[in-house]
Amino acid sequence: MTVKLFRHARIYTPKDTGRPATGQGLAELAIFEHGALLVKNGRIVCVGDETKVLQHPTVGDVQLETDCEDCCLIPGFVDPHTHMCFARRREAEFERRISGTPYLDILKQGGGILSSVRAVARATEDDLYRVTRKQALAALKLGTTTVEIKSGYGLDTANELKMLRVIHRVGRSTPLDVVPTFLGAHAVPEPFREDPDRYVDQVINDMLPAVRRQGIAQACDIFCEEGVFSLDQSRRVLEAARRLGMRIKLHADEVRDLGGAGLAADLRAVSADHLLAASDDNITRMAQAGVVAVLLPATAYSLRKPYARARTMIEKGVAVALATDCNPGSSFTESMPFVVGLAVLNMNMAPAEALTAATINAAYALGVSGWAGSLDEGKQADFVLLDGESPSILAYHSGVCQAVAVFKCGEPVA
Ligand SMILES: [Zn+2]
Repeated sequence: MTVKLFRHARIYTPKDTGRPATGQGLAELAIFEHGALLVKNGRIVCVGDETKVLQHPTVGDVQLETDCEDCCLIPGFVDPHTHMCFARRREAEFERRISGTPYLDILKQGGGILSSVRAVARATEDDLYRVTRKQALAALKLGTTTVEIKSGYGLDTANELKMLRVIHRVGRSTPLDVVPTFLGAHAVPEPFREDPDRYVDQVINDMLPAVRRQGIAQACDIFCEEGVFSLDQSRRVLEAARRLGMRIKLHADEVRDLGGAGLAADLRAVSADHLLAASDDNITRMAQAGVVAVLLPATAYSLRKPYARARTMIEKGVAVALATDCNPGSSFTESMPFVVGLAVLNMNMAPAEALTAATINAAYALGVSGWAGSLDEGKQADFVLLDGESPSILAYHSGVCQAVAVFKCGEPVA
């Protein structure tokens, strides 16, 4: 048994009310200016004002006491949308993109997502593991303690299963909790370009059953977008995944308002992600169906696009979460603090709302709220000490690492 006490902390945490925070609830944090955290065997036993925590009967068993020196203490970030399992960066392509080369020309020159697919096919499992682990550890250093990682650069059964094995291995060999998601329908691979329905059949009939037999991914995602997978194709794949008992989510309405947000509401998906072009009606339907909106402001930033309408979504009662979308093409960052800063400065979210979106609401989007996303008693002691007085520091002192220390299950890990 290990009992640890963390004292002299300015604690800021969303409260887990049993469902994702919506409306004004997003801004409601529990704040303890003179706070303490009591941890037993990696779980939170007591949190609150130090005077109250010191009266807890378990305090008598404390073996290690840490002085947090009045740092701001927040829950570890939960990043609910990443593609950080990839074999090669696309730095030269980035230069072409920012100098104005259209994406279609980049594709013709062998760039874009299909270049990531070729790189994964060529990579050994160990190579892929080394690159992915490096990204995951970079995220941990910045304060992310739970991360979702999608497959989706395999696009055939063998390579999708290979990616999921690598993602699983990163989870086992780093302090992070890693949640693997199957994204076989990320793009239409070259051999199927003339007949995407045949690829959709393959995803449903071959890949999904193989992924279930493998037993690593518990969730299924699809890129529902004009020129990628249609609304009907997305529905077919997601319904098949649900029949296999998987959680379902989708990349929806990133470029065009195809109705992906409405489909997410229809199917009661756990989340719909991106949503830059989602209509007001479908946003309302998401709120009614309890679908979490995962917003990815670092992608809009990197692509120089307008941001998703976070304020409209919050006003309409949608549970908003934030994620990095870390990937080698459109958003190469592992930094949740950067994402929080963008949400505050460019999507007009209050710092408290952005913290809730990056922790407890993100945990709901991943189905991990039972043990992550807030500093509630019984949950894992996953937290970050920030060099600042409040979570505002994440937007105020941006472009640097504000994390002084990161703890996973009460252990210092970065
Ligand atoms: Zn994505």
